[in-house]
Amino acid sequence: MKGAVLYGPRDVRFEERSTPAITEPTDAIIRISATCVCGSDLWPYRGINPITQPTPMGHEYCGIVEEIGSAVKTIKPGQFVIGSFFASDNSCPHCKAGYQTSCQHREFVTTAQAPILRVPLTDGTLLPTPEVPSANLIPSFLAASDVLGTGWFAASAANVKPGSTAVVVGDGAVGLLGVLSAKQMGAERIIAMSRHEKRQKLAREFGATDIVTERGDEGIARIMEVTKGVGADSVLECVGTQESMMQAIRSTRPGGSVGYVGVPHGVELDGEKLFYSHVHLHGGPAPVRRFLPKLINLIWKEKINPGKVFDLSLPLDQVAEGYRAMDERRAIKALLRP
Ligand SMILES: [Zn+2]
Repeated sequence: MKGAVLYGPRDVRFEERSTPAITEPTDAIIRISATCVCGSDLWPYRGINPITQPTPMGHEYCGIVEEIGSAVKTIKPGQFVIGSFFASDNSCPHCKAGYQTSCQHREFVTTAQAPILRVPLTDGTLLPTPEVPSANLIPSFLAASDVLGTGWFAASAANVKPGSTAVVVGDGAVGLLGVLSAKQMGAERIIAMSRHEKRQKLAREFGATDIVTERGDEGIARIMEVTKGVGADSVLECVGTQESMMQAIRSTRPGGSVGYVGVPHGVELDGEKLFYSHVHLHGGPAPVRRFLPKLINLIWKEKINPGKVFDLSLPLDQVAEGYRAMDERRAIKALLRP
C-alpha cells in the first residue's frame, strides 16, 4: 500500500509502505474511510519537532473493520469504527478514571494516513456506529477521532456549565470545535478569538456569540471589557504557545478554569503569578475515548455537524498538498480519502 511519510521539514511523500497485519491477538485491521492532517502534524512538518528518520504519519481515523485478532470480543469485521490517537485498554486505573490517554498500556497510533491501519487494544480503543453511516456523516465521525474529542475535553477541563461565559483561544479546528463543545455544554456567552474571517464565520455557526480579533494585552483588555471587568468563567486554550497560554490565564476570572489542549511548545509559567491568579489549570492529551460514546451518538442523530471543519478534501495521494494548505493557513483542516 501507499501512505504518507515525512522525511524532513516540508517534505511529506506519498510512498510505498508495508501493509499492516495483525501482530497481537488484541489487534484489528481497518480499511480507512477517511483520515486527515492534524494541526499537531504541522510541528514536525515545520521542523519545530525534528525528524530523524522517514516517519509514517497520521493519527486520526475511521473506517471498516477488515480483520480482528483472536482475543477481540467487542468488535466484528464489517463494522464502521472510530478510535482515537492513543490506543488504550479502557480497563486500567487511569482508563477507569477517564484518562485513557494516560493508559498504563497505551500505544500511539501513528500510521493512519494510509488505506489500511493496524489498531492495537481493539476492545478498549474502537467503538462502532449502530450501522455503517452514510457518506455525508463520515467527516463528522472522523472529527470525533481527535479534533472534536480534543475540543470537547478543552471545554470539559475548563468546566463549562450552563450559563457560563467561555473564551476560546485559537481558531484552528480544535478551537472551533471547542466553541461547538462549549455550546453543547450550555455556555451562554462564547467569545472566540480569531482574526481570520472564514474561521470567525464558522465559529459563529458553531455557537460563538462574540469575536475578539485582538491578541496579547489588547486581547485580554477586550475580554475584560466584554465581561465587564470580571474575566471569563472558562477559557479553552487550543494553541500551545507562551502567548496563547498567558492569554488564557489572564482572561480567566479568579476561581475560573483554563482547559489547555494545545501541545505546549516553550510554555513556561510564573509560579507566583499563577498563585495569585486563583485560576484552575487542567489539560493534557485529550482522553478522547472517554467522550466517544457521547460524541458518536450526537453525530449519529445529526445533533452536531463537526465535519464542517474540513474545508478541503483531497485524495490521499495528494497528502502533500493537504499539509501545504494547512501550513499556509489556506485550509482549516484537510480530509484525505484513500
Ligand atoms: Zn488503560
